[in-house]
Amino acid sequence: MIGPRLEIDLAAFRRNIDVLRARVGPADLMLVVKNDAYGHGLSTIATAAADAGIRSFATSDLATGLATRAVVPADTRVLAWPTGERSLLADAIAAEIEIGVGDFELLALLIDRHATRRTRVHLEVDTGLSRGGFRPDQWNSLASTVSAAVTSGAIELAGVWSHIAEASDDDDDDARSRYDEAVHALTTAGLTPGIRHLAASAASWARPEFRYDAVRIGAFAYGIRPAGGPDSATLGIRPIARLLAPVVAVDDAAVTVAVGSRDGLFSSLAGAVDVATSAGLRPLREVGAEVSRVGSWPGARVGDTVEIFGPAVEPTALAEAVGTIGEEVVTRIAPWVPRTTALSP
Ligand SMILES: *Cc1c(COP(=O)(O)O)cnc(C)c1O
Repeated sequence: MIGPRLEIDLAAFRRNIDVLRARVGPADLMLVVKNDAYGHGLSTIATAAADAGIRSFATSDLATGLATRAVVPADTRVLAWPTGERSLLADAIAAEIEIGVGDFELLALLIDRHATRRTRVHLEVDTGLSRGGFRPDQWNSLASTVSAAVTSGAIELAGVWSHIAEASDDDDDDARSRYDEAVHALTTAGLTPGIRHLAASAASWARPEFRYDAVRIGAFAYGIRPAGGPDSATLGIRPIARLLAPVVAVDDAAVTVAVGSRDGLFSSLAGAVDVATSAGLRPLREVGAEVSRVGSWPGARVGDTVEIFGPAVEPTALAEAVGTIGEEVVTRIAPWVPRTTALSP
């Protein structure tokens, strides 16, 4: 069955990484690889990033942490913040995955486990998003629990972090003051916070004071700019994924391409965006379950390829047309769509 593929440009990825590292340095760039590296394919991305010199990876689940560990050099930091899932905890600790911890239940589990191996933990503090993390009223008891556990050798404090909304500078400023207060509460108790990390793509790019020791970057490394935000040229990045669909039929009215909503394409894109063809941009007219229809061009032939998104029509442009974010457009691409690699000049 003929269908779409997602082509990952590893040269463009390397350039994005280089641009971002130069921008955020001396802070360390932790590459966020959750959701199968934002749909790009975890092992390809982690391997290429390691080749580019990235030595810190972060993800939201332990399984991805273990999959990352399997392909990166031994001296690489892999951080995972398990959201609920606990079954892989022993494996993750044995594999020296550093664990993001935002509640006392998980903290107690890790402290109890130290007979096998001392776990490196990154404490997550809630600075206002309420998406997880220790709340301000818990910081003092957190500091004493962690001090005791560090002194007894049960855990090592490897980092202190939080997640911010990056939607308004004022809210981010408030979150940053709370973050500083949390770090202060821990240091006052005699703890050394390890690496401090707060910002994701947008704040790490725009706001030097948010960079601390490390930044957790996902979207920008994959060349996904923020919806409604600065353009890619301003940011110095470009999308590294191209969704390519083969032409399977041509008639006077339209060209039929083999990609559809079951492959992860939003059906609401029909009539809302253009796609890139060999003759330039053409409207995406219909999105069916398995095939879609694109405005025709002279000389269109079965076997031609249409770029649904990529550098020409960015994932974020599609996202803006349907009211979502670029990450969502790429991450939705179904797992069965083959990921291939290319190296642009
Ligand atoms: C997804 C995520 C990031 C990366 O965000 P981007 O905007 O894609 O750079 C950073 N930190 C946490 C906690 C995340 O969940």
